[in-house]
Amino acid sequence: MSDDCIFCAIADGDIPGRIVHETDTTLAFLDANPLAPGHTLVIPKAHHERLNDTPPELAADVMTALREVTIAVEAAVDADASNVAFNNGEAAGQEVPHLHGHVIPRFENDGGHPIHAIAG
Ligand code: 5GP
Repeated sequence: MSDDCIFCAIADGDIPGRIVHETDTTLAFLDANPLAPGHTLVIPKAHHERLNDTPPELAADVMTALREVTIAVEAAVDADASNVAFNNGEAAGQEVPHLHGHVIPRFENDGGHPIHAIAG
């Protein structure tokens, strides 16, 4: 838990999140400013700023959750594919300093929401 972290506050239930998936160590919730319907974020519940300082076992939990969320979100919005990505560090466009993977549903010929759209 980090005091000023918005994603820690969601993980702790202190502020509401539209939660779509949860394990002992991870949480997934809808992005507040979605780039496509169903845009979802997957986080470790424990506070780690970025992939580089996340313990390997926890990073593996996040990846497992990302896979399950990707399958479920694509089915929920009838997507053809998805961008699954991390902005890893401020200079790479990371705005919230709590590790999170994006799942952004994609549709044939959607013509938008390319991967660089989340990279600031
Ligand atoms: P980043 O640029 O750090 O990779 O992405 C941060 C993401 O978090 C953005 O897509 C932004 O819309 C989302 N976000 C920021 N604050 C909140 C919040 O309070 N709740 C939710 N659900 N998403 C947030």
